Amino acid sequence: MKIYNLRNIKDNDEVKLSVSIDSEQLGCKELWFSTPEQYAHGLCENRLDGFLVGMVFPAMQYGEDIHLEGCVSKKLLFNLNNYAIPLLMTFSPSAKRIKIIAEETTTERLNCSGIGTGFSGGVDSFCTIYERYELEKDPDYRINSFLFLNVGSHGPGGSDEEEIFARKLFHNRYNYLNALPNELGLDFIPLDSNLHSFHPWGHQLTHSLTTVSGVLILQNTYSKYYCASTGLSYSLLLKFFEVYQNRDIAIFDPMLLSLLSTESLELIPDGTQYTRIEKILRIIDYEPVHHYLNVCVSGQESHENCSVCSKCCRTLMTLSSIGKLDEFSNLFDIGKYKKKAELRFVCQQVLLQHKDPFARASIKLARENGIKLPSCLVCYILVRLINLAKACLPSTVISKIKTILKQA
Ligand SMILES: [Zn+2]
Repeated sequence: MKIYNLRNIKDNDEVKLSVSIDSEQLGCKELWFSTPEQYAHGLCENRLDGFLVGMVFPAMQYGEDIHLEGCVSKKLLFNLNNYAIPLLMTFSPSAKRIKIIAEETTTERLNCSGIGTGFSGGVDSFCTIYERYELEKDPDYRINSFLFLNVGSHGPGGSDEEEIFARKLFHNRYNYLNALPNELGLDFIPLDSNLHSFHPWGHQLTHSLTTVSGVLILQNTYSKYYCASTGLSYSLLLKFFEVYQNRDIAIFDPMLLSLLSTESLELIPDGTQYTRIEKILRIIDYEPVHHYLNVCVSGQESHENCSVCSKCCRTLMTLSSIGKLDEFSNLFDIGKYKKKAELRFVCQQVLLQHKDPFARASIKLARENGIKLPSCLVCYILVRLINLAKACLPSTVISKIKTILKQA
């Protein structure tokens, strides 16, 4: 695989940084990132660092060495070749050992003072913002800028239609969330890309790499960047390591992020000191959370929480356990959750509690707060019945059955 022809194109009010990718598997394609002109000074226009990190996993899957026609961080190149590639092979059994060769390396430290994190409105992102912006007093470590990436979290990029849909959601969510950074007087930098079209394995598998790729593209902005953990604490990472292997690269974040840092940019894994529920409990009284909490993974075009997808349900079950459900009725449709999802979700969590760390934590919290939960046997029967009814009965009848079961 060859990465070359780094160029900068001004397109209306956007500035696009792009390279050509020449691959045996993919043919010749363009990989690009773009941001509004007002943030273009932060683009790293003379290094391939971000493009390299974005393409390392695809190249490993295809077993293609990477040849870089241009300059990269010496530290990044050394750490990728010697440590990160073997680490990624441990994560993904289908990843091959490859070698990266660069035309030129640099040890230059860029002159920038941005301390950033992503702002998505989710629990992990809010916890990092609460700790490293709201509570942090040291200006060398306090967040002073937020980033909003389109590298896969808004949907896949396997076809033109999928890319267009993801871009629409990216813009919708950006416009909605922008109110908080505006209120705080902080930059909220949108960085669009087609990187996810090179990652057909789904966002969760490689999201640490695609995120870091975007952050490195803005290496003229950031000297430090906090990567929010995905809700597993250190002890849960150890305990459930095999469950997440070849499923979510974030299990390696505490090791991987330092290997993807450069002479100029320090990537910091933040949030692994807490479980997801500990995070919710930490931020529950942080005022912006009551206006912008956005956890939905339903994939709908709107920015709103659907109240019935797995992440909405998990959050609502936690809020219910601690008696805070009604405080979030402006962000979730509580009636819809109770009617359409609560019983099924709670039963699923009971059944999954020994296999899934999030289910285990949700059940533990419910018990600690005196919430009465159905037994495993009852949950098993209920889930089977709900699934059977879904397949055979009209929704009005299912809804009546759920009401009867709840009362029982
Ligand atoms: Zn949802």
